[in-house]
Amino acid sequence: DLRVRFAPSPTGYLHIGGARTALFNYLLARKEKGTFVLRIEDTDVARSTQESTDAILNAMEWLGLSYDEGPYYQSERFDLYREKVEELLEKGLAYRCYCTPEELEEKRKKAQEEGRKPKYDGTCRERADQPEDQPYVVRFRSPQQGAVTFVDRIKGAITFSNDELDDLIIQRTDGTPTYNFVVVIDDATMGINLIIRGDDHINNTPRQILLYQALGYDVPTFAHVPMILGEDKTRLSKRHGATSVMAYREMGYLPEALVNYLVRLGWSHGDQEIFSMQELIEKFSLEHVGKAAGVFNPGKLLWLNEHYIKTGDPARLGELLRPFLEAKGLSPEGGPALPEVVTTLRDRAKTLVEMADGAAFYYKKELEFDGKAVAKFLTEDKVPVFKSLIAGLEKASDWNHDSIEAVFNKVMKDYELKLGKVAQPVRVALTGGTTSPSIFEVIQVLGRETTLRRLKEVFP
Ligand code: GLU
Repeated sequence: DLRVRFAPSPTGYLHIGGARTALFNYLLARKEKGTFVLRIEDTDVARSTQESTDAILNAMEWLGLSYDEGPYYQSERFDLYREKVEELLEKGLAYRCYCTPEELEEKRKKAQEEGRKPKYDGTCRERADQPEDQPYVVRFRSPQQGAVTFVDRIKGAITFSNDELDDLIIQRTDGTPTYNFVVVIDDATMGINLIIRGDDHINNTPRQILLYQALGYDVPTFAHVPMILGEDKTRLSKRHGATSVMAYREMGYLPEALVNYLVRLGWSHGDQEIFSMQELIEKFSLEHVGKAAGVFNPGKLLWLNEHYIKTGDPARLGELLRPFLEAKGLSPEGGPALPEVVTTLRDRAKTLVEMADGAAFYYKKELEFDGKAVAKFLTEDKVPVFKSLIAGLEKASDWNHDSIEAVFNKVMKDYELKLGKVAQPVRVALTGGTTSPSIFEVIQVLGRETTLRRLKEVFP
């Protein structure tokens, strides 16, 4: 049975790249009816925060990436790691190293001067004494001959020569274990059999495989996903715009747009662009994850967002819109129904932020008027036109698109005016400005009471 995991370090927000790794793991687990494990890698106690863990969990929830086991916390597993250090020490597969940072620095410099790759020289490898009260690290006795080869599910066969690998520190002077060591123990004891992660970890993989072998564990399969680059082909960073998943939420993106965008950043299925989560679960496979880095394209993400705003369920979009209105100090309570508001605006908004801007007039207690528009359209000659419209709308027995249009048609005919000459002044009166959804929709959604009040207010 497939067991995969996502293993973020809680030292910041959930990054776009991390989210894509989590998504790939999630999709494959769901497709294969496997298990998706979440593990919080908080061994770096100084840099790990609860706030960051919460931010990562919230972002995953927002994206809809549910997990089946965990979150496990490495900080709760230190006893196990200590046991494993002891085990390797006893078996002679690890040793205590008493070299001081100064000594190591000197060795590094010397190696550099001599043009050698800096690598621990093995001073303490065969050391017999154990100086008391002297700080030490524990190093893995890395095999010096031979090579490690693994067949990466994305990158193909990769070989590292063992003489390139250092005697890795597995426990620091303060007794805390290091990343490459704990990740192996965790993945093995959690039964993870496929590791999907960013290819920035490729260099760690041979070291980890040697540790699997030393600890007597089965080696899992690896799939290293290429990096995400910015449009200038350098690694995606803040310089290229927001890299935090939740920043996209705040900018008014829908989770399904981000999911759809992230999956296509490295994976393809013919030339199909739009995928629902369900479809992704059916279609996703590692075979179609590309070897080359994906380039982050904000324009395409925006295009997908627009698509999901245009086609999403208005009731759900309404609920997603609510906090954006509230952030503007507007309360949807007692105003037009959110799903109807969404329906009038969804063709003109690329984000929920834009939609909230466009929806503000529906909920404002006091409209803000565009002065120029007022001067141009709310002229004295419109007074009788408005009077007739108000009378017609008050009498209308139904309040729907057709009945409202009929009132307009009558007024247009009586005054020999084209629709624009009536609609534009009415739009200014009802919305404060000159752009809005179709005037009949606006009137219908705004409702009889608010429409009449606003029409009467402009020419008191
Ligand atoms: N905690 C590591 C990271 O955030 C992930 C390690 C792994 O996936 O093996 O990069």
